[in-house]
Amino acid sequence: MTAQIINGKAFAERVRSQVAEHVARLKVDHAIVPGLAVVLVGEDPASQVYVRSKGKLTVEVGMHSVEHKLDADTSETDLLAVINKLNADPAIHGILVQLPLPKHLNEDLVIGNIDPVKDVDGFHISNVGLLGTGQKSMVPCTPLGCLMMLRDHFGSLSGRDAVVIGRSNIVGKPMAQLLLGDSCTVTIAHSRTKNLPDVVRRADIVVAAVGRAEMVPGDWIKPGAVVIDVGINRIPAPEKGEGKMKLVGDVDFASCAGIAGAITPVPGGVGPMTIACLLANTLTATCRANNLPEPEGLTV
Ligand code: NAD
Repeated sequence: MTAQIINGKAFAERVRSQVAEHVARLKVDHAIVPGLAVVLVGEDPASQVYVRSKGKLTVEVGMHSVEHKLDADTSETDLLAVINKLNADPAIHGILVQLPLPKHLNEDLVIGNIDPVKDVDGFHISNVGLLGTGQKSMVPCTPLGCLMMLRDHFGSLSGRDAVVIGRSNIVGKPMAQLLLGDSCTVTIAHSRTKNLPDVVRRADIVVAAVGRAEMVPGDWIKPGAVVIDVGINRIPAPEKGEGKMKLVGDVDFASCAGIAGAITPVPGGVGPMTIACLLANTLTATCRANNLPEPEGLTV
């Protein structure tokens, strides 16, 4: 069997153009422009790249984009002052604090200070609790993107066996909650799971979010299963030349693509969906703040 490749890049473009259409309508019908503020502390090169591309795509869908770049030694008090200002700003509907923060800053405290209705990353404890109890929440962008691709592929997920590998707060746990919300039978596997290959072999849906290059081989995959690869790992690529690197997922794409029914590639799978879902969440937050109907298909 050769798996269908789930094209996350093309899917994300469709999501962004849906968002852009809604944004244009909000402007014409209600004179509202959704605003997204991204706060970056320090000069982590990867974070700078993410923030730049978020800002560019935010503007592309017609939203108002604000970037706050703060020095690496910014105090907690000063960072919280920026967040409180954004919380109170009616032109800002979504606030994202780029993680990781420098070590001297308490991430839980900082995220806890974002107004939950503007928490477009879905990391505030209120949103975590709302998601866990099946209520309307802001849903973390990466798992939301994975869910959209799975719903698109299967239609209904009801009754399917899903295994999520990884139990982080930003991917593994919310992913499991979303799959449970769609009536899957969900197993969360992690670093202490026994017989991981056997656990994964039971799954109709495998979501790998570990951060270990190509750790899931094809012989762990049930024939026909759908594999969503969240991992982003940079590894040496001597075939491209000396010192060259390439991105790979947590899944060994070549062997898994030979047995899975469908699979997301890395790059071009989950990654582009994450930013598209950030824009979708900003739109959802704007609609909620203005008591307007939420865009269909862009939230759970
Ligand atoms: P994390 O380090 O917070 O969590 C990793 C999880 O993997 C842990 O829960 C751990 O228990 C589990 N784990 C570690 N070793 C294991 C093993 N041998 N077997 C089974 N489980 C094991 O990572 P994270 O933030 O959830 O990110 C996971 C990966 O996803 C990373 O590669 C990250 O770069 C990537 N990521 C991608 C996107 C995207 O937009 N595509 C977004 C977020 C994270």
